[in-house]
Amino acid sequence: MDGEKLREAAAAGDLALVKSILKQQKSKIVDAADEDGMTPLMHAAYKNQLAVCDYLLSKGADVNWDNHKHQYTPLMFAVLSGSPEVTQLLLQSGASLTKTNGIGKTAAQLAGFVGHHNCVTVISNFFPQTELEPYTKPQGLSSTPKLYPDQVPAFYELVTSSNLNPVKLTMHLTKHGELLRRREDTVYVLEHLLETRANELNEPLAMKLHYLIHVVNACVAHENGFIKHLLTGRESDGALLNMEKFVRLSIRDFKYRNSQLLLALVKNITAVTPGDQPSALSFLEQSINGLQSSSTAESCFACGAKGNQKLCSACKRISYCSPKCQQLHWFSHKKQCKK
Ligand SMILES: [Zn+2]
Ligand SMILES: [Zn+2]
Repeated sequence: MDGEKLREAAAAGDLALVKSILKQQKSKIVDAADEDGMTPLMHAAYKNQLAVCDYLLSKGADVNWDNHKHQYTPLMFAVLSGSPEVTQLLLQSGASLTKTNGIGKTAAQLAGFVGHHNCVTVISNFFPQTELEPYTKPQGLSSTPKLYPDQVPAFYELVTSSNLNPVKLTMHLTKHGELLRRREDTVYVLEHLLETRANELNEPLAMKLHYLIHVVNACVAHENGFIKHLLTGRESDGALLNMEKFVRLSIRDFKYRNSQLLLALVKNITAVTPGDQPSALSFLEQSINGLQSSSTAESCFACGAKGNQKLCSACKRISYCSPKCQQLHWFSHKKQCKK
């Protein structure tokens, strides 16, 4: 009886009522399931009730409840509702990504199947910061850790970034120079994370980690000239051929040769002449983030950042997120700007 009330209040998003029902109960009903095996948390997730989900989890609701009649998990209901926020919350609370439902689909596959790409993005980029902790402790005979604890936030930001533009990533790495100065250790951690994620379920993240290794190595190899190299435009139209080449080579070098993601990416990029659109970067971002390719016109020409664009006032043909990006690109753009 109270279980039913609780489920109804959870689905309706009535947080006050959920709280009062749970307070009055002596026995534990936070996971009181209905005849289909659906818990209050599942009802709340399915109806995109973020605050109620958060509260139920704080009261010990089982984030990996697996007594649903079709083996759906709370995370699957979150992706069915199309809520990236609830999806993120459940992941942070320990929701399993490998559980499958009655027809063998994981939450990520289900999200893709129903077309909720924003949830796919959240899942494919999810990576708990706690996974970096082991690297902050010295291992084996070494007296220094692979990552110093104060490097963790910058490293975490690198691996969770959805903007994969190598200019943007280089800016981040340069700002947190320790990651470049300790290149071998940075690459070691990326490679180690990659090894643990190379199964089919985590192909997008594996591809991303692989790509980041290429970016880190290229930054170091070009010393301080990588951004300039990437932003050097073709004489005739300013197309960023170096960037295109870099992204293509990085993708093609993915060592898991049978990866479906790799095969699909190679097929896509091979069909486009370098310098034409869509760029290899847009295919890469699309496959990793699960998003439809967004128009490059909406992002900064130099660093790929979205939103708040200002057009070049002289030619009004390309836009930037900041004066800094415009300055970075000017050495090359000035040849096209006047045309
Ligand atoms: Zn920018
Ligand atoms: Zn211009």
